Amino acid sequence: MIKGSCLCGQVRYEINGEMGPITHCHCPSCKKAHATAFSSVSRVELADLTFTTGESLVKFYESSPGKKRHFCSNCGSQIYAKREDQNYYIFRMGTIDGDPGIRPAQHIFTRYKAPWYNIHDDIPEFSEWPE
Ligand SMILES: [Zn+2]
Repeated sequence: MIKGSCLCGQVRYEINGEMGPITHCHCPSCKKAHATAFSSVSRVELADLTFTTGESLVKFYESSPGKKRHFCSNCGSQIYAKREDQNYYIFRMGTIDGDPGIRPAQHIFTRYKAPWYNIHDDIPEFSEWPE
């Protein structure tokens, strides 16, 4: 089981199931939402995520039509994003505690990469979405 928590610790969750490989997303919305060079995300099936505490604190911001970014309204930690037309969570890796056992597989939206960040790995890079 994978466990995680937000910065203030009031939101805690468990993931019972496999997570997909990790994608580093360099899109402008992720940079702003996470205040980082890129966000690191992975797919989680809807049935696999359970909040153990603090679910009522999780609010969302609709950053583009149909895409909601869910975060702890007390401390601001990004927890997951969800598109209305997708039946899975785009889970944010940063609040996971310990090693979830999955590793990065790709960079996407590198056309928007921060000029002050250099990619230093061998995984594939895609200008926007993968082909
Ligand atoms: Zn919090």
